Amino acid sequence: VSAIAAAADQLTIGLDVGGTKTAVVVTDAAGDLVHETVQPTTAAHLTDQLVAMARAARAAAEVARPGSDVAAIGVAAPGRVDPATGTVDLAVNLGADQLDVAAPIERQLGLPCFVEHDARAAAIWLADQADGADDGTPPSLAYLSVGTGIAAGIVIDGKPLRGRRGLAGEVGHVVADPAGPRCTCGLRGCLEAVAAGPALARLANAAAERKGGPRVTSAEDVFRSADAGDAGARRVIDGAVGHLARAIRGLVLAFGVERVIIGGGVAGAGDALLGPLLDAIAIERQASALAEQALSETSIELLPPQSAAGARGAALVARRAFASTPTAVAVGGRG
Ligand SMILES: [Zn+2]
Repeated sequence: VSAIAAAADQLTIGLDVGGTKTAVVVTDAAGDLVHETVQPTTAAHLTDQLVAMARAARAAAEVARPGSDVAAIGVAAPGRVDPATGTVDLAVNLGADQLDVAAPIERQLGLPCFVEHDARAAAIWLADQADGADDGTPPSLAYLSVGTGIAAGIVIDGKPLRGRRGLAGEVGHVVADPAGPRCTCGLRGCLEAVAAGPALARLANAAAERKGGPRVTSAEDVFRSADAGDAGARRVIDGAVGHLARAIRGLVLAFGVERVIIGGGVAGAGDALLGPLLDAIAIERQASALAEQALSETSIELLPPQSAAGARGAALVARRAFASTPTAVAVGGRG
């Protein structure tokens, strides 16, 4: 009781490490935003960047809320996250084999630091924001992040699904096309290799090369070309949308989630992504009574832009962990 009461007057920092951008937020006990900044990710000096961003956020929060203090820091990161040691490995899109995240932050800021998988942190925040069902059942939802990589965060009956080694939700490396290209993880035809942002750009460039069209550098360009009437870009998007629709069906059937919220850089395309995705899912529903039953009551949504779900989730994870962890153990408790 005393730890929770003490935490009620304190702020938490949430950092969200993405393949291209890193966001930091400071939130209060009610979850309201006190401060927010986004920077390009500098993967080569990532821990230094996280320490500097947390330090600047703490200083900004002290100005925004005089007399308040930051109690804990949460970090949302891709890859296999071990909340017990505060380390991250297999973060293929950060080009890192092993990252010691929590210990340097705790050492340099003197605050407890808690690490969570980025998509899972976003899902935890979305579940916290959601009203449960009318009958009082806690929310079951999946957050599907489609950006540099693809991963899902899954919350079942209000509880985040972690799995034995923390790899639950890594649907980006489930096979989408057995004959597809090699993925950054080493496997062939992963969902990520055919439907993530870099895959869209690569596939569009392969098509452009065959016909001598202009090259693109990002998924955003591919959506722009398709919008301007480029048939090759349209085919690339339709292909990726088909893969994503099947992945969403898989999430709904495997986990019984009532909502799938799509975020990440590719979701920035907005209705240009959601429209075709809903069409593809409607076709599946027409083809199958089973799909109709599973998907008819599932809400498929885009995460509103600028919602900073990962960073806010990291701040929420830190608040909950801090409230349930004696400070003396959390600070300096790691070797
Ligand atoms: Zn893979």
